[in-house]
Amino acid sequence: MRKGEWACAFSGQGWKSGSERKRHFPKNSVGQIVRFDKLKNRATVFIVGLKEEWDIPIEDLRFIDVTETGDKYPSKICNSCHRLLPVESFAPNQNNLHGPVRRPACKRCRTDIDKRAPKSSQAKRMEKARPKKGSLFECPICNRISIAGVTAKVVADHDHHTGNIRDFICDSCNTGLGRFKNGKNYLHNAIRYLEERDELE
Ligand SMILES: [Zn+2]
Ligand SMILES: [Zn+2]
Repeated sequence: MRKGEWACAFSGQGWKSGSERKRHFPKNSVGQIVRFDKLKNRATVFIVGLKEEWDIPIEDLRFIDVTETGDKYPSKICNSCHRLLPVESFAPNQNNLHGPVRRPACKRCRTDIDKRAPKSSQAKRMEKARPKKGSLFECPICNRISIAGVTAKVVADHDHHTGNIRDFICDSCNTGLGRFKNGKNYLHNAIRYLEERDELE
């Protein structure tokens, strides 16, 4: 047991740093050891899914090799809640033939994501405006011209907070936007990052 090692806090109980009261957090949360308190037989663990440090009894921790988790192993860490769960807790990935076998977020997190995007009347109206298969389509982001559903996949770009469709964009741009997480300002961060690094040259 060393600082920097990874552990699975299977009981989901401990003391949030600075707090006196024992409380619950999601069971099987994955965290990194910050320090040990041998006297109290506790470890301070940075719980990734909560972005918080918790003091956890050492007997409630199972030390894990995070590199031996994932689709090829019996258990996998959810990229959203960061709990270590059996691979069956992740839905098979149907979108990507050559990508990962299962979705990166667990079924429970997926449900939460879907709940945030209810179909509004605006969404239904927009759905009717979807470019028809075989029609000429210009992506408003990359400006590439294609034949919808033939030479490019056209997808609805959702505002993940309201569930409304913003517009239809090409699949490639949708994947790009997805990497920067809708609604958060990661795109601004990326632009700033590129600008700052360019200035260093
Ligand atoms: Zn999850
Ligand atoms: Zn595009």
